[in-house]
Parts: sequence; structure tokens; C-alpha cells
Amino acid sequence: MASNGYRNGTGTNKGAIKPPASSNIRSSSFKSRLPPSSNHSPGSALRRTSSASFTTAAGGDGVPGRVRVAVRLRPRNAEESTADADFADCVELQPELKRLKLRKNNWESETYEFDEVLTEFASQKRVYEVVAKPVVESVLDGYNGTVMAYGQTGTGKTFTLGRLGEEDTSARGIMVRSMEEILANVSRETDSISVSYLQLYMETIQDLLDPANDNISIVEDPRTGDVSLPGATHVEIKDEQSFLELLRLGEAHRIAANTKLNTESSRSHAILMVHVKRSVLGEEVAIPTESDKSSHFVKPPKPLVRKSKLVLVDLAGSERVQKSGSEGHMLEEAKSINLSLSALGKCINALAENSAHVPIRDSKLTRLLRDSFGGTARTSLIVTIGPSPRHRGETASTILFGQRAMKVENMLRIKEEFDYKSLARRLEIQLDKLIAENDRQQKAFDDEVERINLEAQNRVSEVERNFTDALEKERLKCQMEYMESVKKLEEKMIENQQKHQHDGFMKDKCNGEGPGFCEDIAVIIKLLEKETHMRKEAEKEVNKLKSQLGQHMDAGAGGDAEILKLQIALEDEVHQKKKLEEEIIILRSQMLQLTFEADQMRRCLARGGSGNAYPGLDSPMSQVRDSLSGHKTPVSALFDQVGVEKILDLLESEDANVRIHAVKVVANLAAEEANQERIVEAGGLTSLLMLLRSYEDETVRRVAAGAIANLAMNEANQELIMVQGGISLLSTTASDAEDPQTLRMVAGAIANLCGNDKLQATLRSEGGIKALLGMVRCRHPDVLSQVARGIANFAKCESRASTNGIRSGRSLLIDEGALPWIVQNANNDAAPIRRHIELALCHLAQHEANAKDMINGGALWELVRITRDCSREDIRSLARRTLNSSLLFRSEMRRLRIEL
Ligand code: ADP
Ligand code: MG
Repeated sequence: MASNGYRNGTGTNKGAIKPPASSNIRSSSFKSRLPPSSNHSPGSALRRTSSASFTTAAGGDGVPGRVRVAVRLRPRNAEESTADADFADCVELQPELKRLKLRKNNWESETYEFDEVLTEFASQKRVYEVVAKPVVESVLDGYNGTVMAYGQTGTGKTFTLGRLGEEDTSARGIMVRSMEEILANVSRETDSISVSYLQLYMETIQDLLDPANDNISIVEDPRTGDVSLPGATHVEIKDEQSFLELLRLGEAHRIAANTKLNTESSRSHAILMVHVKRSVLGEEVAIPTESDKSSHFVKPPKPLVRKSKLVLVDLAGSERVQKSGSEGHMLEEAKSINLSLSALGKCINALAENSAHVPIRDSKLTRLLRDSFGGTARTSLIVTIGPSPRHRGETASTILFGQRAMKVENMLRIKEEFDYKSLARRLEIQLDKLIAENDRQQKAFDDEVERINLEAQNRVSEVERNFTDALEKERLKCQMEYMESVKKLEEKMIENQQKHQHDGFMKDKCNGEGPGFCEDIAVIIKLLEKETHMRKEAEKEVNKLKSQLGQHMDAGAGGDAEILKLQIALEDEVHQKKKLEEEIIILRSQMLQLTFEADQMRRCLARGGSGNAYPGLDSPMSQVRDSLSGHKTPVSALFDQVGVEKILDLLESEDANVRIHAVKVVANLAAEEANQERIVEAGGLTSLLMLLRSYEDETVRRVAAGAIANLAMNEANQELIMVQGGISLLSTTASDAEDPQTLRMVAGAIANLCGNDKLQATLRSEGGIKALLGMVRCRHPDVLSQVARGIANFAKCESRASTNGIRSGRSLLIDEGALPWIVQNANNDAAPIRRHIELALCHLAQHEANAKDMINGGALWELVRITRDCSREDIRSLARRTLNSSLLFRSEMRRLRIEL
């Protein structure tokens, strides 16, 4: 009940507690004075109003809405029908005129006009439709609503409001029908309905859904003036059935409570509160743009929530307390019981009379109904009366209450606010989306930055590579020139060779070292110096270009097409560079070979010997060292420049000439002890062994065998050769080869291996000794000399092992059938062969296990000959000592009467 003023209409009916006939006519103008929403289709009017409110702030100015009042007459009950059978009803209804006549006596009556006049025959359905339906529709539209029944006990308040109509649905009262209507119109997804059911008795509010909760306090929102009962139970309603059960439960509790209090339900007010919460979207707002008035930017609707409340009040009986003293209450107590009701009457009077003060605070009922009378709610009041003339006084006072209530005008205001929760939910989702989008963009940005960085790096390295290649090209050009010079030198050398062959040895001219070679070497050195100079120049150029590149990069120039072009050019250059590098290596290896050959030639010229291009195996090291003395620098420099790996690569070149050159170079390098380790480390030994295995070409095999022979002088290499299957490879070559020079190299290699104590057994098992002996088929003295050297080496190792007690038994050489050849060649014309065999015989003779075979094979005679004929004194005495120390030899000599 609004305390802030008079909300009545025009005031023409002001103060008409008992309207005269004229005022009754005026009062019929209620309808025309009421806003359209108060008329026959208030729901639709309110809907219009509510939609208008969407654009205004919630809680803005409302629309006027007078309290509507209907009167309902109860039919005579059985008792009345009997007792008052002779009397007429105290009221006469004119429903079509919405008028009620209250009889004063038989000839006089007063006429009252109501918003609806419902006769004793009015159905519950009709009562609902005219009294409650407009209010329920308003509630669904977001307004608060009140339906209240006022009247004397027994006149049908509960019948009208609270009947459940369980047996007969047509008997259902306003409460059930209202809920039915609400449930039919709300959305299960977005809306919610909850119910509280209370009883107000002697200024105490009890929870009918939880009777233990019997002192609920009223809370008023000081800002909005809204009243709430936070202590009351709120039960959510999903369907009609649950609501009916709730009403039954409430009723049962009400009866129980009243029994306990020793009172009747007619003394208490029953209040059902239905809370309706609905989510709606505000209207879309179209904003015309400046440029084009026809196109509109539409602002999305905002989420709104409407929290309205339907209050159904079944008031306590309105009869005067004095009259119902039979209930046994003391007067004061009875006053207290009806305090709320009389306060309600006072407030309605004050509102109807536009009084400055409306005493809402006088009772809990008036506080609870603050919004229903003089507030913002749509309110319908149904006043119930009985027909009995005995209760005429009560009926009259009920009618007057209704008449006054009709003057109370409310300002209907929609209960709508921003749906902050749903807005927050929507914003959260939007925020999530934005965060995800932001993350996605951030990642895309990071990826882009990375891509640009990578591209920049690629560009830098590409340009750098281009400059390096340009430099390399420059260098290659220099080397080409250098190679030209080498070629010229080679031609000159061939010329010189031919000249020497034709003219004989020109010792007087050359005198040890031909000036032509010295000049050539000097030319090479000069060329090298020139190249070094040019390289330095080129490096300077590169540095310059690099700084230009830096500037270029800073400027950020360059496009994809340019990069593509550069890439193609770069690939071209890389290809050309590779080719040129190969050529350089080949040329350099040729250069190396030529240098070696030049050395060889110079040595021959100096000694006046034959033009053998390869150093003899007897003392290759010393020869190479000789040849290199004083001229090591250009050769070493070349070797360093080319690199052993690259030379070894050339061994597999497709070009046969290159292969031959390469193997010659390796062989020559292998002759120098300093290079051997590098060659072996770089896999040179393996490559050479592979050549022996796979090459048909005699020259290659000869030179490779020579190189292996040179490497085989080193003890560490000997074991490597063995491990890599070199013995059987050499053996195969020994049996295949025909060329005496190849055989000489192979025999030399095996002979070197024969001198290694650790290889004795392997040499025999892998056919090394057999291969050595097989090579005597070639009668070339050089080959025979290497075979003899091998036998001597082997015998020496065996002898050493026997002396040290490591081995025993007959010599493997004798086992392998070497003795006949040894004996045959013991007196060979060639001194080197003879000397090796003499030594071999001495070593074999030192062991008694060999003596018998030696005697049988005729070796004793040879040993005796050695003691007499050998040119070397040391061998003669060795032979003598050996024979004397052997029992078998001594006894055989005695038998043959040989004396030393
Ligand atoms: P109240 O709540 O005002 O004290 P009730 O609703 O309890 O009155 O009604 C008293 C009695 O009158 C009940 O037996 C009820 O069935 C009966 N009654 C009330 N109104 C009507 C009506 N319009 N038609 C038939 N019976 C009625
Ligand atoms: Mg009742």
C-alpha cells in the first residue's frame, strides 16, 4: 500500500461511502475513466504497456490501474433455506447492470455498482475469468498481481479461492486455475515458478509448507519498497500435480496449526505467493545511419528478467468480533486476531479518501499487501456475501468495504530488470570466444614472426653462399691458370726426356741436377705464391662483399623472384664448382705424379742409371728421401693442398687415366714414411687392397701392389694388411699376375710381411708362403730376389721363435715344400738371391727339427759350401757355427768325412 499519496482517479466519487443513486450512475463511469488496461481485455492492454516499457527504464512511470472489485453471492445453504424460508434474501443482484441492491426493508433498498456482480449461479470458471484471469495475465507479463477474497465467515472465500476440485474439476478455485494458466504460459527452459504458502494469525506469519517455521519476518527493500519473506519456504513448481499436493499439504498444516492454537481457519489469513521469473529479450533498437537513412544498424536485444509475484489472499472472516464471542476469545485477544483486517480496512479508507497518511505499518497484513493497494500491482478483490437477512449488517459492511476498495488506484509498473546473470553468462561466453580468438591470433602472429625470421636467415645465408661461391669461382680461375702452367711444365719435361733419350746422358751438362727442373720447380713455387696472393685478394673482396651484403640486408631489398633467380644461379655455380674442384684435384694429382717423376728422372740423370720410373723395393725409402731432399716443399705443399682423401676418391674415378694417375700418386706418397700414416688413416690401404681385388688393369694392379709393398714396410701396417684380408688378396694377385714388375711388387709385399713374427701362422694358413714360392715360375731375377728375401725373413722369424721357445717342430717352409727351391738356388748367379738363400739356410739349420729334412734335401752340402765359398765372412762363420752346433749335422759330416 503506497503511503505516498492518493492514486484514485478523478475524485468525482470522492468520499461516497454509500453512493446515492446519482453517484451510482456516476460510478458506472468507472469503466470509461479507467485506462484501457482496466477494461475488458486488461491482459492485452498490459502487454501493450509492458512492451512500451521495454524501451523505458524498468521501474519508470507506470500506468494507472484501479483495484477491481467483484461481489459474489453464495447460494442459500440448507440451514438458511429452512430457517429463512419465509424471508427474502437481503440482496438483490442485477448482474447485467453490475449492480447490487441491498434491502433496507421491504420497500427500500440501496443500489451499489461493482466491476462484476456474480450471482449464486456463477460458475467457478466464470468467477476465475472475470476476477483472476486478468491479474494472472498481468503477472505473466511481468506485473505484480493480487487476488483477495474478503467477506464474512461462511460466505465462500475459501470456496472461491482455495477449492482443489479433486472430484469435480469444474469446482476448482482461483488458486488452482491461476497455476494452471501460469504453467501453460511459461517456458520450462527459461522461466521458473516457485510458491510460498503462509498463514497470518495474531500478527505472526507461519510457514504452511514448514510449520516449524512459525515466525517469519517481513523484509522491505528500502530502495524499491519491495516486500519479501526470505524466511519462507519456496517450492519450485513444475506441474499442476505438485502444486495440488503442495496446497493439500498447506491445508493440512493449517488445520493442524489451528487445532494447536485452539482456533479456526476463519480467524487466520491464508496467503499464497506465486513467484514467476521469466527471461525475455528486449527489443532490437534500430539506429539510422547518417549516410543512408534506409539502412539501419540494429543493436542486439538485451537480456531482461521479469520477476513478478501473484499474491492470493484468503482473508479471515470479516464479521465483527463481538458477534462471534462463542469462540471463547477474550475481547483484546480477538482484537489482536482481527488487527490485520481492521488495519487493511483503514488503509483502504485512507487510500480511497486520498488521505495524507496511509497506516500500512499498523499490521503485518498491510505491510505484506503494500504493493497490492496503492502500489504497483494489478489487484482484484472479490467480496463474498451470504443471502441471509440475519447477517444483513455484515453483508452491508462487506459491500461498503468493496465500494471503498474500488476507489483505490494503483500505478501498474512492470517488474523488469536487466538479467545480469544471463548477461554475465553471455558475456563470459563472449569473453571465452574472444580469448580463444586472441590466442589464435597471437599464435598466428608468432608463427608469422618465426616464418619471417626464418626467411630472413635463409636469405642471409643464401646471399653469403653466393658470395662464397663467387670467391671460389675466382679462386678456381686462378687455379686454372696455374694448371695451364703445370701443363706447360709437363710438356717441357717430356721434351727434356725425349732429348735425353736421343742424345744419351748428358752428365757434363746436367751435372747432378738439370737446371730445367730447377726452373720448373721455381715456376711452380712462383705460381703457388701467385695463387696465395690472389686468394688473399679474393678474401678481401669477399669481406667487402659481405659488408655490402649487410647493407643490402638492412635495406630489406630483395623479392621472391630474385631469390629464385639467385637460387638457380647458386645451384649452377655449386655444380660448376664441384666439377672444377674435381679437375683441380686431378690436375694436382697429375702435378704430384709429374713432380715425382721429375725427381726420379733427375736422380737417374745424376747417377747415369736406367730411366726406371719406380723406386726399387730394396731401399725405396732412401730413394724417395733422396729425391725429395731439397725439393720437399712443392711436393708437400701440393699434397697438403689436394688432401689425401681427395686423392683416394680419385682411385674410384670413372676416368681410367685419372685412376692410374691417382694410384701412382698414392704409391709415390706411400714411399715416404711421413705420408704412410695419413694414407692408412684416410682408408688408403683399404682402397689399394680393393684395387687389387677388382682391377683387371695390369698397371693399376702393379702400382697398387707397389704402394701396398711400401706400406707393408711398416710393422703397424703389416697387421692392418693382414686384418683386411690383404694376404689372400696378394696371394691371388701372385697367382694371377704375369707381369714381372707386378710380381716383384707382390713378392716384395709378402716378403715384408714374412719378416713379422706375429704373422707367421696367418701367412701360412692364408696361402702366403705358397704364393711366394709360386712366383718363382717367373724367372725374373728381381722377382726371385724378393722371393728369396721373403724366405730368409720367414726363416729368421721362425728361428727366433724356436730359440725363444715359442715354437717347436719342423719349419713351415719345409712343410710347404720350399726346401728343394732353396737348395736349387743356394748358389744362384744373382748375388742378392744367393745372399738371401744363404741366410735362410743358416736360419733353418739352427734347429735340430729341420736337420733331417735338410740332410735328405741336400742342404747340408750347400751349407758346407757356404762355409767355404761365401763371399761374406759373417755368413761363412754363421754357417760353420750352425753346423757344428747340430748333432745330426755333425754325425752326418763325420759319416761323409766332411771337415769344416
Ligand atoms: P468462508 O471461507 O468464507 O468461511 P467457505 O468457503 O468455507 O466460506 O463456505 C462455507 C460453505 O458454503 C461451504 O460449505 C461451501 O461449500 C459453501 N459455499 C460457499 N460458496 C458457495 C457457492 N458459491 N456455491 C455453493 N456452495 C458454496
Ligand atoms: Mg474460509
